[in-house]
Amino acid sequence: MTALFGLLADEFVETAARAVKEAGEPSYRIDQLRRWLYERTPQAFSDMEGLPRSLRDHLAETFVLHPLDYDLDMLSEDGTRKFLWQREQGNDAGRIESVLIPDGDRVTYCISTQAGCPVKCTFCATGYGGFSGNLSTAEIIDQVVQIRTRTSLAPTNLVFMGMGEPLLNFDGLLRALSIMTDSRQLGFGSRRITVSTVGIPERIRQLSRAFPQVKLALSLHAVDQGLRDELVPLNLKYPLDEVLDAVREHCDATGKKVTFEYVILPGVNDSADDAKAVASKVRGIPASINLIGFNPFDEAPYRKPSLKSMLAFRDELDGSFAGDVTLRRSRGEDIQGACGQLSLKNRPAT
Ligand code: SAH
Ligand code: SF4
Repeated sequence: MTALFGLLADEFVETAARAVKEAGEPSYRIDQLRRWLYERTPQAFSDMEGLPRSLRDHLAETFVLHPLDYDLDMLSEDGTRKFLWQREQGNDAGRIESVLIPDGDRVTYCISTQAGCPVKCTFCATGYGGFSGNLSTAEIIDQVVQIRTRTSLAPTNLVFMGMGEPLLNFDGLLRALSIMTDSRQLGFGSRRITVSTVGIPERIRQLSRAFPQVKLALSLHAVDQGLRDELVPLNLKYPLDEVLDAVREHCDATGKKVTFEYVILPGVNDSADDAKAVASKVRGIPASINLIGFNPFDEAPYRKPSLKSMLAFRDELDGSFAGDVTLRRSRGEDIQGACGQLSLKNRPAT
């Protein structure tokens, strides 16, 4: 059955027109259905009041509304809320996660694009949890609309920083971005969307062309080829120098800054020399650098950095790098909802 949330705006109109016609209803029902879907998003077609019962029944027989089943959610002491969803196949590997991060006036949804992640970075729980496939476009969109209806907290920012490497589910990502930003659908501003990636040069270029306003975050973590090969195994296939060429082109083509993300792993990538090497490697690229303290989990061979050592690294970087350097506060650690803690294996007792 077709999942309506996977359809681009024109595909939706075509598909809805067919269904409305089959149910013997006039064409203004198409727009009623569209508004229900993208603006109000009920739990089921049967809740779409104002549509005749026969049409609601026909829709329910023809289409999937929510490809993800809500499983549970966990609320952190700091207000961060993690959602677990069950995918259709109904086993544990079929569970994925999203995170809602309220912060003053900002409400950020952190969205997943894959069930697990094939990249297997050595510091990321998602990588250790295995990989069971790309999410469909409808599953990506469903995270957004379900969090919105369940919490009544509309997003101000959408970040592709949940499970998976977005550029490895490129078709799903591009379609989801189109549905998120099209005014006939979710109508969300592309400037408030961030795609985070470890870097696939050609896809960065394609993304800049297709969605020049979408922000790019590049997960750096190391500038030494050997160390980055180890930490981010995709670096073997797409070496950092080639990735940075694509990032420069992205900045030139879009006129935007990029954000480099850097997970601080004590004793591994946080020396004063590391800071200098980072600054020298990215010199000339309009960027800010976001430092993230490593969030620990069971299998990881790293320690959590002390605040003191993070500040020392920041100061060192500040001295040699022209752009902004920020230390990201870790959110939702107590519910394993912080960066890098989302995992297929992370099953809370139910
Ligand atoms: N796959 C994409 C997006 C998801 S990860 C990427 O890697 O960019 C989002 C961010 O969380 C990345 O910057 C990633 O490096 C960071 N991260 C992963 N594991 C982490 C951990 N254990 N502690 C802190 N940050 C982590
Ligand atoms: Fe995948 Fe990103 Fe985690 Fe690396 S950091 S394993 S790319 S989700």
